[in-house]
Amino acid sequence: MDVKQARGRLMEEQQNRRALAERLRGHVADVVEDRELSKVDQHAGELGTETFERERDLTTLTMLEAELDDIQHVLQRIEDGSYGTCEECGKAIGDERLEAKPWARLCIVHQAEMEKAVSRR
Ligand SMILES: [Zn+2]
Repeated sequence: MDVKQARGRLMEEQQNRRALAERLRGHVADVVEDRELSKVDQHAGELGTETFERERDLTTLTMLEAELDDIQHVLQRIEDGSYGTCEECGKAIGDERLEAKPWARLCIVHQAEMEKAVSRR
């Protein structure tokens, strides 16, 4: 994968996520007054909908922040010249994987292991 291209995409993803996280933070803080986004669930009870939306926003926000951390991290690795290699074993992560997820930090083997470890908790 072309590093310049990867950096461009990462910056773009970073910008999008920052903007979205910013919006979500505002929404979480102000969910009761925000009627725009609750139009979708007209059938659910109002309180239930708001609680649900808040939970969902918080989950999304946590995910975005984790991805932003990863993006920041791999941007640093681009500077170091180690972008695209697994942080565990040093093998190439693979273009296909980086194409789908340019902020990937681990090869598919170690990613699977890490996910197993997380879900074991
Ligand atoms: Zn690995």
